[in-house]
Amino acid sequence: VQASIAAMEAAKPLNIFVTETPERALEMADAADARLKAGDAKPMTGIPVAVKDLFCTKDVRTTAGSHMLEPFTPPYESTVTANLWDNGAVMLGKVNMDEFAMGSSNETSAYGPVKNPWRLGETDTVPGGSSGGSVAAVAGRIAPCATGSDTGGSIRQPAAFTGTVGLKPTYGRCSRYGMVAFASSLDQAGPITRSVRDAAIMLGAMAGHDVKDSTCVDVPVPDYEAALTGDIRGLKIGIPKEYHSADMPREIEDMWQQGMAWLRDRGAQIVDISLPHTKYALPTYYIVAPAEASSNLARYDGVRYGHRAPLKSGDGLTEMYEETRAEGFGDEVKRRILIGTYVLSAGYYDAYYLKAQKIRTLIADDFRRAYEKVDAILTPTAPSAAFGFGAKQDPLAMYMNDVFTVPASLAGLPGISIPAALSAEGLPLGLQILGRAFDEETVLKVAGVME
Ligand code: GLN
Repeated sequence: VQASIAAMEAAKPLNIFVTETPERALEMADAADARLKAGDAKPMTGIPVAVKDLFCTKDVRTTAGSHMLEPFTPPYESTVTANLWDNGAVMLGKVNMDEFAMGSSNETSAYGPVKNPWRLGETDTVPGGSSGGSVAAVAGRIAPCATGSDTGGSIRQPAAFTGTVGLKPTYGRCSRYGMVAFASSLDQAGPITRSVRDAAIMLGAMAGHDVKDSTCVDVPVPDYEAALTGDIRGLKIGIPKEYHSADMPREIEDMWQQGMAWLRDRGAQIVDISLPHTKYALPTYYIVAPAEASSNLARYDGVRYGHRAPLKSGDGLTEMYEETRAEGFGDEVKRRILIGTYVLSAGYYDAYYLKAQKIRTLIADDFRRAYEKVDAILTPTAPSAAFGFGAKQDPLAMYMNDVFTVPASLAGLPGISIPAALSAEGLPLGLQILGRAFDEETVLKVAGVME
């Protein structure tokens, strides 16, 4: 814990932490020490964790990367972090993220972007997003692990950009209680770690049924570490043909082929599959996610939470709402609210939102059919390596980053990103392994043999 605190201080130029909690970390370390001495240690006792700043932490400021929540200190703890602390883990601090988890580069944060530790002292490179602070803390060797959240790829894509392991569990595996909501039917917490084994251990400590989240499913949490048998003989791994594209960079295609070869060498069978509605996933996601976001973000009205614009003479309630939201939210968040309210509005609901919901079902059906034939699916995590700050000014170019991660998000399925290759520029590239609902064990097992 002391080494992590020192590393946190040394890494200030990376802009990873929004709030550092070294005193709390030392107190928790003492408690962990006592537990170790009493022979009562659990798998994460004494392990420092960087917490994405959208998990509410009791008495510790929680911003969700937004000015809107700057003055918000939760009076309660999220279930996921409470589970980690019960397991003996130690909170190092709260880490930077895209505002309300909307973004793929950490550039939408109200606290400034995080720098990717892979490019220190050279051209600044994004860490990916929205869990940019979480992956940078792990890749920069500040914390051995971090919590992330993934709505359309925010654990997996930044993990790929930083050579870390990022696991998005099945929707419903971890409780969303106390997580600042982006899109409630998609949001899911998960671990960001250095190794697949650590991801297995940390998921076990985070997951579990919770009556405080009605979408959190009451199924037993298996011993994920025990799933890492290294034996994938006879497993069928699907390669979806729709993920191939003419404009896929050579190095991404090569990495994918390499991944198939590794799995074949270990006795798995590579099977060509089709997920026919893949091309609709990105537009569907960028209707469903903003729709839910516009509804979730209606609560930030200057009355109940966070920021409130100072009243000017003549201002009424409406002006107070308007000024508060104009000041509190950044551009990307405003864009999502506009898109979301538009697709939910009476005249356009059928054409956009309802249609998107139907396509979402078709996408889930694609996976269901595929998993009748295969045990897991292998794809690249992202269409490129990490890019430079400001490289993707066009929102649509930024959204394209999520092309390989959003289909599984829409279907609620688990997926992991593992480091698999280096780009020509020497930046990490990731492979994604997707699995059946609540079958994180197979996902971890397959990932484990590729490390
Ligand atoms: N990049 C996607 C978005 O901006 C996904 C974000 C996420 O998973 N939180 O919506």
